[in-house]
Amino acid sequence: MNELYKELKKYGEVKTKIPLSKHTTFQIGGWAEFFIEVKETELLIQLLDFLNSEGVEFFILGGGSNLLWIDQNFSGVVIKIATSGLKLKEEFVEVEAGVPLSLVVNLAVKNELSGLEWAVGIPGTLGGAVRGNAGSMGKSMADCIQKVFVWVDGEVKEYSKAECGFGYRESIFKSHKNMVVLKTTLKLEKSSRQEVSSVVAKNLGNRKNFPKWPSAGSFFKNIRLENWPQEKEKLPDLFISRGTVPAGWLIENCGLKGFRIGDAGVSQEHGNFLVNFGSATQEQVLQVVEEVQKKVYDKYGVSLEPEVQIVSSR
Ligand SMILES: Cc1cc2nc3c(=O)[nH]c(=O)nc-3n(C[C@H](O)[C@H](O)[C@H](O)COP(=O)(O)OP(=O)(O)OC[C@H]3O[C@@H](n4cnc5c(N)ncnc54)[C@H](O)[C@@H]3O)c2cc1C
Repeated sequence: MNELYKELKKYGEVKTKIPLSKHTTFQIGGWAEFFIEVKETELLIQLLDFLNSEGVEFFILGGGSNLLWIDQNFSGVVIKIATSGLKLKEEFVEVEAGVPLSLVVNLAVKNELSGLEWAVGIPGTLGGAVRGNAGSMGKSMADCIQKVFVWVDGEVKEYSKAECGFGYRESIFKSHKNMVVLKTTLKLEKSSRQEVSSVVAKNLGNRKNFPKWPSAGSFFKNIRLENWPQEKEKLPDLFISRGTVPAGWLIENCGLKGFRIGDAGVSQEHGNFLVNFGSATQEQVLQVVEEVQKKVYDKYGVSLEPEVQIVSSR
């Protein structure tokens, strides 16, 4: 263990026995034996190569805003990506994986570039947003991505947008455990400061009523209209025009707002936010998830699929 600690120090700041509850927005999770913060992409690549060749288990952490971590302790290495490169050239933005999405939105607003207004208020890093194809109001990362540089099983590869397999909160990077987003090039559109700022301000306003309790954002994916088993004509027009039935609406209609097991529960403000009322555990959240899925299935015949990355104990 000492040998591993010494080796890890070559790549960044290493800490031991770090509770993940301090590094996830849900504020849930046991500690990781090793926690390393890496600030340079080149060092990140070298670290990944090293861990891969030694067969050491690792977990990539961005902003920790889409994660439900395990209650047990993790004996491997948590790699916190803290790279910060952000370059603008005309309407192209080159962003390293550790850059907070909010910084990229700010850069776009300052430079009168449109394409990321939907992302205002979404926590996390660019790497996490690319992997999960983060989105809001019918828009997503896929709309402005040009290419993505990825570490995959010891090689660095460039993926064009078409090769990224983007879908609703999906990408090829999600389906392969050993794919780490290193850097992305985004293509935005020239606009006016006034136009970009006003949409950003409006979108930020829409987030004002989001729950204040710790969470990982919307817990479940919305149901795509083509998977809706009942009469579509009975759904509100807004759902038809957006092409999805909101998970929060289904949960609310099952009377589950405020439903709680221990300190984990469904928010009173938003049916699709599972929240931590104090010292919730992953186990309690998973019990709430099970109950929500069961009630929604019994009433509507649809299975809610988590959007949040649930880490499982190995
Ligand atoms: C209040 C709140 C509001 C939110 N609103 C939205 C919203 O409107 N829309 C939306 O889509 N999401 C939303 N989210 C969820 C979350 O912010 C996004 O999914 C975000 O993009 C996750 O990024 P992250 O860096 O925090 O990822 P993390 O939570 O750190 O990681 C999530 C997963 O991605 C992996 N990962 C992280 N970085 C990389 C990388 N560089 N390469 C490969 N894998 C990586 C991790 O291993 C993990 O499996 C919200 C969350 C909160 C708390």
